[in-house]
Amino acid sequence: MISVEEALEKILSYVEVLEPERKPILDCLGQVLAEDVYSTIDIPPLDNSAMDGYALRARDTRGVSKSSPRYLVVVGEVAAGSISAKEVKPGTAIRIMTGAPLPEGADAVVRFEDTDEVNRKLSGGDLPHIGILCQAEKGLDVRGRGEDIAKGDLILKKGKVLRPQEIGVLASLGCSTALVIRRPIVAILATGDELIGVDQPLSPGKIHDSNNYTIAAEVSRYGGIPKLLGIGRDSVQSLTKKIYEGLGADMLITSGGVSKGDYDIVKDVLAGHGEVGFWTVCMKPGKPLAFGVIKKTEGGREKKVPHLGLPGNPVSSMVTFEQFARPAILKMMGKKILAKPVIQAIIEDDVVDTDERRLFARVSVTRRGGQYYASVTGPQGSGILTSMAKANGLAIIPENSKGVKVGDMVEVQMLDWREEQGDVKKLPIVSIVGKSQSGKTVLMEQLIAEFKRRGYKVAAIKHGRGGMEIDHPGKDSWRFAQAGSDAVLISSPDKLAFIKSVDHDLGIEEILPIVGPEFDLVLVEGFKKSKIPKIEVHRKGLGDDLLCSPEELSAIVTDGSLDTDVPKLPWGDAVTVADFIEKSFVLKSQGSVSLPPMKGKG
Ligand code: AMP
Ligand code: MG
Repeated sequence: MISVEEALEKILSYVEVLEPERKPILDCLGQVLAEDVYSTIDIPPLDNSAMDGYALRARDTRGVSKSSPRYLVVVGEVAAGSISAKEVKPGTAIRIMTGAPLPEGADAVVRFEDTDEVNRKLSGGDLPHIGILCQAEKGLDVRGRGEDIAKGDLILKKGKVLRPQEIGVLASLGCSTALVIRRPIVAILATGDELIGVDQPLSPGKIHDSNNYTIAAEVSRYGGIPKLLGIGRDSVQSLTKKIYEGLGADMLITSGGVSKGDYDIVKDVLAGHGEVGFWTVCMKPGKPLAFGVIKKTEGGREKKVPHLGLPGNPVSSMVTFEQFARPAILKMMGKKILAKPVIQAIIEDDVVDTDERRLFARVSVTRRGGQYYASVTGPQGSGILTSMAKANGLAIIPENSKGVKVGDMVEVQMLDWREEQGDVKKLPIVSIVGKSQSGKTVLMEQLIAEFKRRGYKVAAIKHGRGGMEIDHPGKDSWRFAQAGSDAVLISSPDKLAFIKSVDHDLGIEEILPIVGPEFDLVLVEGFKKSKIPKIEVHRKGLGDDLLCSPEELSAIVTDGSLDTDVPKLPWGDAVTVADFIEKSFVLKSQGSVSLPPMKGKG
């Protein structure tokens, strides 16, 4: 059995980024830009008005107010799209509309509301004059030439995924087309003698093919172009013919026929026409998976088309599509972020994992009170496609875990979230653990001081084993709590304290949302059982054994010599430890993570 990560890595090693194509910008949504785009123009091209009002010379308004207006002679009017033929000379103004280029001589705009225009019109006053009611600084309500984009600037970088705003930027630059990595064509084939088309009446023993539809919709959703090959029968001849029809594509996805049944011949057909691997992947649903390349000759040259043989069960084929086909399609499209966003949620049902595989449980995630909750969407049979229809996430129950219990924290892959959403800056966090007397609190103090010196905003978390007494009897906060409030927050101009009764010893994952996202680094003392990165402080005087097992540790700070592969840092040198933390956690978390992190119960 191979792990999900190994399978993904292997599949990705066989797919390549496709070549670029030039096409109209409106067809490029979601595609990756294959060129740097520089501006050949200034945007806006001229100084122009940000308001409907009067273009004037700022000096003409010096000392002006409502009670002592200045009257200017109106010498013309200019609307967006035209240039004023007249100039603003001292003592004059030009009526101007939003977006109209600023007339020669003017350096500010005073909006209608700060003039007497309305009153003047109502009272039938003298319109060739205007009363200005406020003092304008130079540049008031003027949008400067090149303020948004200056000629020659690099505006969009190669590799950028084009969203509506980038398409708009391209339009504003006057680019009607863009060079983007082309969309992959994905041929899709369902296999099985029991399958009939969606528009055919059911007869005994037959079922409607649904996999072709789910998979085609998935391919479109992730930016590929589905090419439906229909249904292949369970015969070598039928499958061979169908598979060859699909070889014009960039990738072939089949469903069914990869398990051990007598009619599961996809593997035989493939073995005859290419290189193929049959894997049992350590996941549920979706254990049997075929992957290989089919050889074809095109223009006298041999080409290889990657083939992904998904299991036939509708849920299995969808879950394996999500884990393997989706990232492969995204890679072909030139995308860098391939992992679905993963969140932490509290599970609301027990989930048993009877064998050793990683379980992807279909869940519906809701957010209540700043916390995500995941509830299982009914029976989890791999043929029950409606359990997928009710789900918006897949809870990942780690291999060898036996499952999870109500209230446990689980990781959930969010099926409807865009991959880019997971690319937000992650809050770097590291925990300092160690036996008592190892010096971890001293190291914490030194690290906090060192990171403050380096300009970081640091939050420190300490697990108060023996409880804590901060809301003193008689104080308002204490009285609110006595009255039954579940949480009390005391806010003052320079401090904030949040006191909440909890029914269990919170894990660090549950505490972090309270800490908030604004910090550059969270330093934690303790929580040795959590999954966050840990550095153990070790002193030879306290024995050679460690508190945590080496696999869980990112580094060991020690004054002894330990025989382990874990990086060792000198005891008593907080600067070196800070360097290590900075390099390993802070800087890394600012980049993008492209593959899903390895999971496992730590
Ligand atoms: P297989 O992997 O071919 O043994 O198929 C496993 C199960 O999935 C069988 O119960 C099939 O009937 C079902 N199945 C296979 N392909 C499809 C499909 N295209 N649409 C719906 N169900 C399918
Ligand atoms: Mg079959």
